[in-house]
Amino acid sequence: MAGRLEGKKCFLTAAAQGIGRATALRFAAEGGEVIATDVNEALVGELASTPGITTRRLDVLDHDAVRAMAAEVGPVDVLFNCAGYVDHGNLLDTKLEKWDFSFELNCRSLFVVTQSFLPGMLENGGGSIVNVASVVSSEMAVANRCAYGASKGAVIGFTKSVAADYIGQGIRCNAICPATVQTPSLDDRINAFDDPVAARKDFIARQKMGRLATPEEIADLALYLACDESRYITGQPMVIDGGMHL
Ligand code: NAD
Repeated sequence: MAGRLEGKKCFLTAAAQGIGRATALRFAAEGGEVIATDVNEALVGELASTPGITTRRLDVLDHDAVRAMAAEVGPVDVLFNCAGYVDHGNLLDTKLEKWDFSFELNCRSLFVVTQSFLPGMLENGGGSIVNVASVVSSEMAVANRCAYGASKGAVIGFTKSVAADYIGQGIRCNAICPATVQTPSLDDRINAFDDPVAARKDFIARQKMGRLATPEEIADLALYLACDESRYITGQPMVIDGGMHL
């Protein structure tokens, strides 16, 4: 049976670890021609031994490099925008620099990457854009996610805007909204607490299913949104949160 992404060129940002890595592997397993990029060239390079995956260094904050990469890669069928980071803090804790950086990485880079790849997708006659937002966004709030929640809410607004503007030209644009996923950056965040054991328990306690998500579970949803099985879905924030905001 042919893979669900057979013949489709898929471009991913932040694919060296966590959700991006799992998604690159899932896309390749489904026959996609995967270009996996990350600012961490050595780590993303480990994926290059997987059939169907080529890897490149790309810092999404370097807008000239993003535009040059889009020109070099040419039209893609699937764009997976994964780059993002979590800032910890409430409104009074959050320094303006952290607010700005949250929007720089979580939103501004998304704008530049998508704007750079969209013309090729239009030239191709369409494609699927999948943005990684978060359930902590316009979907729900948790404590100490002021800049993060605001920036991920903007990702959802951007997703809907792109979906509305290009729906007549074969472009679909959806967002994935995970709750807490077991990834290397989560471990870093947990280890930054005074009591990491208690912090991990608190993260798990938020999930009504009693466990964190795996990156592979998020990659399954990414695959669905990327491939033609989801052809009637666009502009949607797809929540995958283990019942966190039931
Ligand atoms: P991660 O945070 O463990 O890894 C992030 C990757 O991004 C790393 O490989 C890093 O090198 C890369 N990166 C950082 N800055 C970059 C840049 N400027 N250009 C290119 N690559 C860069 O991965 P994760 O936890 O899977 O997070 C991926 C996405 O999922 C993020 O947008 C995050 O906000 C979102 N998300 C994560 C969780 C979670 O609990 N892990 C939950 C909801 C949403």
